[in-house]
Amino acid sequence: MEPDLEQHLRDSGIRRTAQRYGILEYLCQSAVHATADEIFAALNGRFPLVSRATVYNTLRDLTRAGLVRELPWEGKAARYDANLHRHHHFVCDGCGVVEDVPWFDIPAQTGPETGHGRVVRAYEVTLRGNCAKCAVN
Ligand SMILES: [Zn+2]
Ligand SMILES: [Zn+2]
Repeated sequence: MEPDLEQHLRDSGIRRTAQRYGILEYLCQSAVHATADEIFAALNGRFPLVSRATVYNTLRDLTRAGLVRELPWEGKAARYDANLHRHHHFVCDGCGVVEDVPWFDIPAQTGPETGHGRVVRAYEVTLRGNCAKCAVN
């Protein structure tokens, strides 16, 4: 998602602040699915005024505006994703990296057609294993 971030931010209807822009830009560029702590660590040098609370508040604003998606992460800190296109994730057991995996549909019997009266709104798959770097070591 590289198009004009300024435009993107303006279209969302929230006010542009240096923090909102900075965090959105960081998430778009690094595609690391960073946690709030990682974002704080990465941006602290660039915005000395950013406090941890500012990072949390800004992430909340960006999430509400639909610019960032919060990924709940099984008992760990939530990660933030600026890739709003449908995609799955790959998590490396070795180094913990989280990578985007291009979207694919899952078989009908495990997806929206599971029966039992369920109504499936959305789904995404988390693949686990070793990333390219860890697989060779
Ligand atoms: Zn790895
Ligand atoms: Zn992602």
